[in-house]
Amino acid sequence: MNIFNDKTCSWVNDLIIRTNIKTLKSNESCEWLIIGAGYTGLSAARKLGQLYPNHKIILVDAQLAGEGASSRNSGYLVDTTLNDGFTSNKELDNFKKKADIYDLGIKVVKKFINEHQVDCDWNECGKYFASSKIEDEKILRNFSNTLSKLGFEHNLLSNNELSKRLGTNFYNIALHTKGGVLLHPGKLVRAMIDVLPKNVCLYENSSLLNWVKNKDIINCNFKNGKIKAMKVIFATNGFLKSLGIKSNYNFPITLTASMTRTLTDEEFKSIGEPKEWGVLPVRAMGATIRMTKDRRILIRNTAEVHNSFKMSNSNLEKRSINQKIGIRKRFPQLPDNIIQSSWSGIVSRSRNSSQIFEKIDNNVFAAGCYNGSGIGVGTLFGEQIAIKASENITKEIETIEARIKPTWLPPQPFLNLGIKTRLIYERLRARTEI
Ligand SMILES: Cc1cc2nc3c(=O)[nH]c(=O)nc-3n(C[C@H](O)[C@H](O)[C@H](O)COP(=O)(O)OP(=O)(O)OC[C@H]3O[C@@H](n4cnc5c(N)ncnc54)[C@H](O)[C@@H]3O)c2cc1C
Repeated sequence: MNIFNDKTCSWVNDLIIRTNIKTLKSNESCEWLIIGAGYTGLSAARKLGQLYPNHKIILVDAQLAGEGASSRNSGYLVDTTLNDGFTSNKELDNFKKKADIYDLGIKVVKKFINEHQVDCDWNECGKYFASSKIEDEKILRNFSNTLSKLGFEHNLLSNNELSKRLGTNFYNIALHTKGGVLLHPGKLVRAMIDVLPKNVCLYENSSLLNWVKNKDIINCNFKNGKIKAMKVIFATNGFLKSLGIKSNYNFPITLTASMTRTLTDEEFKSIGEPKEWGVLPVRAMGATIRMTKDRRILIRNTAEVHNSFKMSNSNLEKRSINQKIGIRKRFPQLPDNIIQSSWSGIVSRSRNSSQIFEKIDNNVFAAGCYNGSGIGVGTLFGEQIAIKASENITKEIETIEARIKPTWLPPQPFLNLGIKTRLIYERLRARTEI
């Protein structure tokens, strides 16, 4: 099983190409094995390296470390969400538990960037939940009530103020939350690779094919080698299901996004020279759209059931055309051909939007399924699953485990049929917002 990602993500292309890439070419054994080197796996490895400086820790990824969803996302480190992917969770107690986890996620990323002096274009500018439809004010007023009850600072804005702030008069109503950070996801994950402890051995382009447990030892088979491990942490998020991890509780969803080149001075003037901003849709399947610090526009407006291992160039192109239309709708004054790159990425979802954080068998642990909000939660879960696997407990683990677990999913073909129907329905509801 190999993962072929398109090579066109602007966030990845912004980074210096790494050298000294090692692939697994022999048989090895270790105390700790982590599969998947995104935010989750890298954070688990960093924590284990600190806890066990004398243990051998192996971290393996099927592609280049960090080049999965961790550097292909929209870069919103969220404190609150109105929708989780394509569903909404409106119940207060659940919302609070979710927000408590997000809060810990922001803190852990902030601590990481402060400790290691990471430049990842961190901007605590909050975010907008915006809609072009006046009637969505009702949804935003309800959301505002929830946020007020939980003490989140926010305010409602209408068209005039929004067009000044965003440089588009597409949106008629929005709720701005003060919390939440915008960042460069590629720079963040690259920093996590750069600071891996010395006793962590990273193998890349080395896909785990299958694994078996023999008594308490876990034997993992790769194309050119095997690893025998005392403990394993699965941190493969959108690929948990393909490795047989909690398969009846999570499923992969493919997202695509596009980014423009940097706007010229004239183009930037034509939209009113707005400061950096990020908009999330009010209707679940609407577009996420962002103006970056360096004046590029990012848009993500698809979520679908697709082959998780590869999206063809022609399929990606079709999605890119949709994204071009999304940009044109909002910024008709900009030229048509400014998209510089389009890419796809895989996330993991559960039915009830809960995450996976579990010991799934003796010496086997898994963390993932962040329902589209994994920057902070993935970083948090990575660290904390390492602590849990060390048989320890923290306040953070208690907070994570206070949330309900993902609920059971129906088997195929009913599952895909159900998801596709729901996606079509949500896409129709959001058609003006795409
Ligand atoms: C377009 C897009 C926009 C998004 N926007 C946001 C956002 O704004 N904010 C936010 O918080 N989240 C966002 N997300 C979600 C976020 O990117 C993920 O939740 C996060 O990256 C999860 O991190 P992870 O380390 O668990 O998984 P990943 O980054 O997916 O890492 C898992 C790794 O496991 C590896 N792997 C898989 N199978 C194997 C195998 N068999 N053997 C070895 N390695 C394997 C993969 O190659 C991959 O590198 C977005 C995602 C996408 C795709």
